[in-house]
Formats: sequence, C-alpha cells, structure tokens
Amino acid sequence: MKKQSIAPKVEKFACGLCKLDISDVGEIVFIQSTGCFHQVHRHCFKSACFERQMKSRGMHCPDCDKEVQQYEIREYLSPEDI
Ligand SMILES: [Zn+2]
Ligand SMILES: [Zn+2]
Repeated sequence: MKKQSIAPKVEKFACGLCKLDISDVGEIVFIQSTGCFHQVHRHCFKSACFERQMKSRGMHCPDCDKEVQQYEIREYLSPEDI
C-alpha cells in the first residue's frame, strides 16, 4: 500500500532562519502579517527583526519573501531595541 501523505498536519517545524527543527512549541513564531504563517524560532525572528531595524531595512519572511509588517516586528522588539 502506497502512503500518500502530503502531510496536512506538520508535526515537525523547521525554522526558516536557522533551518533547525523547532522542538519547543513555545519557541515557534508563526509570521502572521505576511499571511503565510511560516514558522521561525522566536529568538531567530527577534534577532532578525533587530538586525533589519538597525539597518532600516524591511524584514521579509525567510521562506516566501513576503514583507513582514512593522507592527509585527515591533511586537518582538522591546521598546529599548527600537
Ligand atoms: Zn531558528
Ligand atoms: Zn512566508
């Protein structure tokens, strides 16, 4: 019997930024403002946002390259970071 699973239920998440598996569910960030809901580590997303912010560059989803909106970036940056 052939197994035809297109994996509707993803059990393992890989971070789009560091490419490692995200084992801790609490560490997953689903990028929402892009509408793609790709997942990254919370700390990876935060440092990527921080880096882009410092360079005044837009943040893009590492998987689909859609632009992450400012409001979502700000959610992950503390006021001191901006
Ligand atoms: Zn990561
Ligand atoms: Zn995406």
